[in-house]
Amino acid sequence: MLPFLKGTRLYSILNSKCPKCQEGDFHVSKNAYDFNNFGKNHDYCSHCGFKYEQEPGFFYGAMYVSYALTVAFSVAIGVAIFVLFPSSSYLVYLISILVGLVVLMPLSFRLSRIIWLNLFHHYDEKLANKKEIAEEKK
Ligand SMILES: [Zn+2]
Repeated sequence: MLPFLKGTRLYSILNSKCPKCQEGDFHVSKNAYDFNNFGKNHDYCSHCGFKYEQEPGFFYGAMYVSYALTVAFSVAIGVAIFVLFPSSSYLVYLISILVGLVVLMPLSFRLSRIIWLNLFHHYDEKLANKKEIAEEKK
């Protein structure tokens, strides 16, 4: 998806790829709504061997990102209701935002972890071409 973004943090976030090489998968399941695996991520990158959880509790920090995403989703849903149904009562806003947040929760959880990881690590072209380098040495 979006190959022209390769090398940017956005590519890693949108494709759930390793932030270092952008080749190995970060999440176990590609589907955010696979309820048995949506919150699971690999321990190491399958391509470059990068360890995703740098220290115990590293992903607790993703709660800050999750909070920001929750606010963004809430505002987006609120604006959508304001534009589409201008004469709605406050109860409609409240219920719509709550239902929307529950539905978007798996997506928010996954995005917050990969965004948090991408805040601290960036693309390294040498790691991305690791297999090509190994093949050249043969
Ligand atoms: Zn990697």
